Amino acid sequence: MTRILIMGPPGAGKGTQAELLAKRLGIPAISTGDIFRANISAGTPLGVEVKRYLDAGEYVPDSITNEMVRGRLAEPDAADGFLLDGYPRTLAQVEFLDGVLAESGTQLDRVIELTVDVDEVVQRLHKRAMEAGRSDDSEEVIRRRQEVYLEETAPLIAVYSERGLVAKVDGMGTVDEVAARVADAVSEPFQR
Ligand code: AMP
Repeated sequence: MTRILIMGPPGAGKGTQAELLAKRLGIPAISTGDIFRANISAGTPLGVEVKRYLDAGEYVPDSITNEMVRGRLAEPDAADGFLLDGYPRTLAQVEFLDGVLAESGTQLDRVIELTVDVDEVVQRLHKRAMEAGRSDDSEEVIRRRQEVYLEETAPLIAVYSERGLVAKVDGMGTVDEVAARVADAVSEPFQR
């Protein structure tokens, strides 16, 4: 069980749970949002190109995001597995990832869907904005990111469900409680 996606609305706690699970499984947690933010902080050409999308709560174009992920998955630490956090987020990204995995003769093992209630999500994002000073966490942008998730990314759950890959995990509760549920979700036998 080493090629895993974690999905859920912004603020569902994906990043935290991805880090914990990846450590447990000895695979890298790859967050496209973190990679974009690191590039923005470092002022790389990629960072300059993508900043306006993150600031507005809009998705970075697939062409940019896909090539970045292809490069990251080709790094040696991802050869035996990875946990993708925040990718894919569009149907075009699903298809692109299918292609990348097919090229290496591998496939996804499981998709974890973290579910939370929206009020809790908005509260978490607000708290994180205060703590981290993220420029994409103003109230307006928080709302926009929720909308974009519902429009673009929620439908991906259905696609992966049809493949029998999705494990739904209740994301409400403490970090430890959720981490225990996530650990169960990847250790359960599953039918492809
Ligand atoms: P995250 O930290 O995962 O919430 O991502 C923060 C922001 O990075 C998103 O609001 C998008 O602007 C951008 N981003 C991250 N992952 C993707 C992706 N797979 N496709 C497009 N944009 C992305």
